[in-house]
Amino acid sequence: MPAEKLSDSTRAVVSGAAGFLGSHLCDRLLARGWEVVGLDNLVTGVPENLAHLGGERRFSFRRHDVSEGIAIEGPVDCVLHFASPASPVDFAQIPLDILRVGTFGTQAMLRLAEDKGARFLLASTSEVYGDPLVHPQPESYWGNVNPIGPRSCYDEAKRCAEAFTFAYHRTRHLETRIVRIFNTYGSRMRVDDGRVIPNYFRQALQGEPITVYGDGSQTRSLCYVDDLISGALAVLDGPDPDPFNIGTQYEVTMLELAQRVKRVTGSSSEIVFQPLPQDDPKQRRPDTQRAKERLGWEPQVAIEEGLALTHEYFRLALAGC
Ligand code: NAD
Ligand code: UDP
Repeated sequence: MPAEKLSDSTRAVVSGAAGFLGSHLCDRLLARGWEVVGLDNLVTGVPENLAHLGGERRFSFRRHDVSEGIAIEGPVDCVLHFASPASPVDFAQIPLDILRVGTFGTQAMLRLAEDKGARFLLASTSEVYGDPLVHPQPESYWGNVNPIGPRSCYDEAKRCAEAFTFAYHRTRHLETRIVRIFNTYGSRMRVDDGRVIPNYFRQALQGEPITVYGDGSQTRSLCYVDDLISGALAVLDGPDPDPFNIGTQYEVTMLELAQRVKRVTGSSSEIVFQPLPQDDPKQRRPDTQRAKERLGWEPQVAIEEGLALTHEYFRLALAGC
């Protein structure tokens, strides 16, 4: 069944709206002229991420835990499920919340989409590939995940979320989309969120030692937030229920990244080495041929530009602006 085109007057429900990616997503949907209902329980998100939308009449926000189920009045055309803590620090502290939002929360959002006859988009992750034995990772790779390790609450919840999404697509004929997001960075990341970009920038800007875990030889591929949101919207707009990797080919070791952050911030912080967390993936880079061929999507922002913009954000955030 070909997907219907989304119109300019679309009404969307976004979970995780007060988070890093969710808040940027809301901005971009509003810029399309859409009406947006944002949901968030603020477990890792902050109201400041949405403060600039205070006077926007096409935006409404509801503090709500989507794992408890959702009722929305009126028509809904799109349901975008971005709620989930995403930092390994959260995996250690709130694993049950993560499992709940990936499973019950995903089902609640799918039910909402089904009730309303809406299109559904799941924010999935490169973590579905675990510590990958295939490099780079194409969407056809099934992954290498430890089901009982410290990251399993997140990895398995997202794998379950994808399974839920496909079950609704196959048996309830819901229009579903899945975006597998690779490491993304940019403004509105929480300074104390514990992921590598906030840690390195905070440490560099405050003159603290920059903490590289292990020997820093593990790699990640970094995508600037504007490119990621463009990719997620291309997946949403496209006709295809298959998962899409969205990320860049800029693969960097965590030691090189520390050196880059030192350079861009002009910091004199020393680089120190700390133990590598268990099951930390050794390498990660997306194969993005599918997104390029089927959606015409490619990232546009070079790492130098993205890190400079991110530096400016953290500089102001740490100054309390
Ligand atoms: P984030 O922590 O900034 O945002 C997640 C938001 O979800 C927060 O505002 C949080 O309060 C909210 N939330 C969590 N549980 C909820 C619940 N039960 N009900 C309502 N709201 C809830 O993280 P992020 O980086 O913006 O991640 C957003 C989504 O993208 C997540 O689904 C994450 O798994 C996915 N993702 C992000 C990255 C990345 O690099 N940023 C990579 C892969 C996948
Ligand atoms: N990392 C690091 N120092 C830090 C934080 C993270 O070396 O202060 C490493 C971490 O071990 C991992 C990589 O940076 O190899 C990316 O970590 P992040 O938590 O950002 O996300 P992940 O991709 O592991 O989910």
